[in-house]
Amino acid sequence: MDVRLENHLDYFIHDNTAAAGLSPEMLAVAREAFRAGDFNLLAEIYGSQLADLRQPDRSLCLLNADALSRAGRTAEALDSYCTAANLDRLRPNELGSLVDCIAHTLRVKECLKECADSDGVSEDEHSLDLFSCRLCKLFYEPVTTPCGHTFCMKCLERCLDHNPNCPLCKENITEYLATRGYHKTLLMEEVLQRYLSEELAERSKVYQEEMAELSNLAQEVPIFICTMAFPTIPCPLQVFEPCYRLMIRRSMETGTKQFGMCIADDIKGFADYGCMLEVKDVKFQADGRSVVDTVGVSRFRVLSHGHRDGYNTAKIEHLEDQKVEGEELAELQKLHDCVYEQASTWFTSLKDNMKNQIVSHFGQLPDKDPDIQGGASGPAWCWWLLAVLPLEKRAQLSILAMTTLRERLSTTRRVLSLKSRLSKVTYRL
Ligand SMILES: [Zn+2]
Ligand SMILES: [Zn+2]
Repeated sequence: MDVRLENHLDYFIHDNTAAAGLSPEMLAVAREAFRAGDFNLLAEIYGSQLADLRQPDRSLCLLNADALSRAGRTAEALDSYCTAANLDRLRPNELGSLVDCIAHTLRVKECLKECADSDGVSEDEHSLDLFSCRLCKLFYEPVTTPCGHTFCMKCLERCLDHNPNCPLCKENITEYLATRGYHKTLLMEEVLQRYLSEELAERSKVYQEEMAELSNLAQEVPIFICTMAFPTIPCPLQVFEPCYRLMIRRSMETGTKQFGMCIADDIKGFADYGCMLEVKDVKFQADGRSVVDTVGVSRFRVLSHGHRDGYNTAKIEHLEDQKVEGEELAELQKLHDCVYEQASTWFTSLKDNMKNQIVSHFGQLPDKDPDIQGGASGPAWCWWLLAVLPLEKRAQLSILAMTTLRERLSTTRRVLSLKSRLSKVTYRL
């Protein structure tokens, strides 16, 4: 039994029975009604008792108000709280039941907010209710939770991104979430196929259209705002925010397995340049988080910003290095070889623990590429170096945005010279 109401009842017995005139028999019925969860009956008992009194009794008003709020009759409950408040100021601890009741109502409303408004719908539409997900419309790929409630799998997954409770009864379904043992509710699917095939076909069409839209990265790329990423360089991620859980799931479902990575920007939300990441592996954890192994694919410039279901999106243009020929290429090759030597020397000069840390995160310094203009992003070692050099994110970003290898190498050379001069100074000190 609820401790608060139990105490409330005891308090009531000791101090107010006489004043309120509640007979022991009525009190017994009230206790029984409370135990049975029949708050309407409880409210009726208190209400009739109050009606018999010449002066309203504050404690009885509160008991009545609590019973009414538990019965979900909030407006009447408020009237009764007001009557009690007029007799003596209300204390916060006297409003527990009201707060619980309002919180519960709000939660249920949130869950059902997308449920079709049943006002003015026809009989047929009412019968459709039976086959409706409480989170959207007609069931699509329905699954049933251990507590027996059925939702579309995607609707349920999105709710579970926020908390591990059944969206309807609030039962904790952490274990279900941990195993992700979603099994389709086949009976429901068969019933839908047989009796509502047209509606189901329409629902399926909407789903396919959404998938096609989500797969079209030429139109819109989901943007993960977190860290600097570079072509060819691994970028492991811990994903726990609901919006990013959805983003990762979608990238797997659509099969694109890609999204853009940008660093945050105070004014624009995210930086103008970023790197596409490809998902290599996702491990979903019991608590709903996921560990995502990704690797950088290509660089991009942001053309416009957008939003989708809580995460950022962008229309982008891919960046490619400008190619050079003849004399210019020969010079570029010379610069390239020279900076590679410099990079190698810098890396060798690092202390062992630093070196080990870098190797465990990013691997060894990659070998020189046979063709320095081979890919759209130039030699991999350049990106490896940029990822491991202790540089400000903004400096890394400006190098990421460069579209000539010559410019990138020259800047890298300056950074390396500066770093080795600094380390010499530190050494002498
Ligand atoms: Zn649904
Ligand atoms: Zn449930």
